[in-house]
Amino acid sequence: MPSAERLFRTEAIILRRRDFGEADRLLTLFTPSRGKLGVLAKGARKPTSRKGGHVELFALVDMLVAKGRSLDIISQVEMIEPYRALRDDLVRTTYAAHIVELLDRFTGEGEENVNAYNLLKAALGYLCQEVDPRLVARFYELHLLTWVGYRPELFACVRGGEEIDAQDQYFSYADGGAVCPRHGGRSMTPVSLGALKVLRYLQTRDFAAVRGLTLRPETHAEVERVIHGYITYLLEQRLQSADFLRHLRRLAAQ
Ligand SMILES: [Zn+2]
Repeated sequence: MPSAERLFRTEAIILRRRDFGEADRLLTLFTPSRGKLGVLAKGARKPTSRKGGHVELFALVDMLVAKGRSLDIISQVEMIEPYRALRDDLVRTTYAAHIVELLDRFTGEGEENVNAYNLLKAALGYLCQEVDPRLVARFYELHLLTWVGYRPELFACVRGGEEIDAQDQYFSYADGGAVCPRHGGRSMTPVSLGALKVLRYLQTRDFAAVRGLTLRPETHAEVERVIHGYITYLLEQRLQSADFLRHLRRLAAQ
């Protein structure tokens, strides 16, 4: 039995899992105070394993983890909320996988982010309810952008700083927000007044308000296009900077 100081207890949501060795699983967790974390679930694939059923994807669990030399190992695990509906329905599974993947891509190992954790937990719960999963996804995307430091500016022109008038605008991925027609241009994404209003609503209201929205399909499609365009741009930037850092490290090692 490991000594007490080498154990820690944490709530966790399972983001990813993969087979490891003969009978083990390697899990990627997201936790409130330790951020993203890799842990080993020993013997999790044995049919007799009591841990096996508790390490399902998307599940919310309470864990006792032993710090190992190279890998942390699950010592005990208790189910808090399995979010079973997320695995029983293909559409919900797809949306759950999407929100989990976004968090995974926007956060690094060990970066504490309790707001992102609480948002993830809430969004998985919303996806289990009778609600349009696309609204959950758009709400989650905009709020996640806030908690990982990329909150888009939707109330002032990011080029001129002046307040946005009630008219069609542009959105600049590079500047991270709305741009007025005077400062906007063809290199930017046009965003209609209707879509901008929805984006603002999603960004500033809680989900109790958002879940009641009924959007025209073309408005939702436009909102989705703007958010996904921005997310894609940011992730490409992140990947480039990660590649550049790897390049610097390689250079320093020579
Ligand atoms: Zn402007």
